[in-house]
Amino acid sequence: MRGVEFVAIHNAPMDPGPAETLRILVVEDDRALRAVLVSTTEAAGHQVVAVGDGLAATRELRARPFDVVLLDIGLPVVDGWHILGELEGRRIPSVIVISARGEERDKVRALDLGADDYLAKPFGSEELLARVRAVVRRARPPAEPSRVVEAGEVCVDLGTGAVHRAGEEVRLSPTERALVVELARHAGRVVDHRTLLRRVWGPEYAGERNYLRTFVQRLRLKLEADPSEPRLIVTVEREGYRFGPAPPPPRPAPPRGG
Ligand code: CA
Repeated sequence: MRGVEFVAIHNAPMDPGPAETLRILVVEDDRALRAVLVSTTEAAGHQVVAVGDGLAATRELRARPFDVVLLDIGLPVVDGWHILGELEGRRIPSVIVISARGEERDKVRALDLGADDYLAKPFGSEELLARVRAVVRRARPPAEPSRVVEAGEVCVDLGTGAVHRAGEEVRLSPTERALVVELARHAGRVVDHRTLLRRVWGPEYAGERNYLRTFVQRLRLKLEADPSEPRLIVTVEREGYRFGPAPPPPRPAPPRGG
């Protein structure tokens, strides 16, 4: 098997981006909760479309672009899991799954199926808006000149966020993309768990190790030749993850004289 090498390392500050009007799709069959979701997001200045079942959601998603979907799981006709499956590998929208149950296995399943975040009912409006801001920030690559980091057959463009494997573009969700870009930006160096969670997800996520585990696993399935023996996104025990191999140790100085 071919060795993994990286050819470029580039550092740039994150661009937090200004407040802006986002296109939000609310998918929730509970009328009262739907009204709350709509009024909260509209009050924050966003452009909101709301539907009450999965079929209508699918129609809206096919008809126009959205930045964020607030997706209830328990829906009539077509459930939220199905919609999540249809959105697999999208660049936009970011998806926040909203679940009544608040159970850990729902959360894990939602993230496994490609949701960008998960919010358990009940939640406050500030928490909701903070999650929306966080997923959108993640979906936007920081403004920096395009620079490509290569490792084996994978190329990550730090500027556009495009990821290619053996020349083919890899379909990644906004959060998968943000994570691989962050790792590639520090190719060859270990990025610790808390730093990754803070930079990719946001400061309030620093303790959410299961997010990181789930997304690393998803990226490995999409990018590694053998996901069970990762060479691209390497686990460094008790520290974090490293993109590509560690750089070779510095060569010893040549002996003096001739
Ligand atoms: Ca419901």
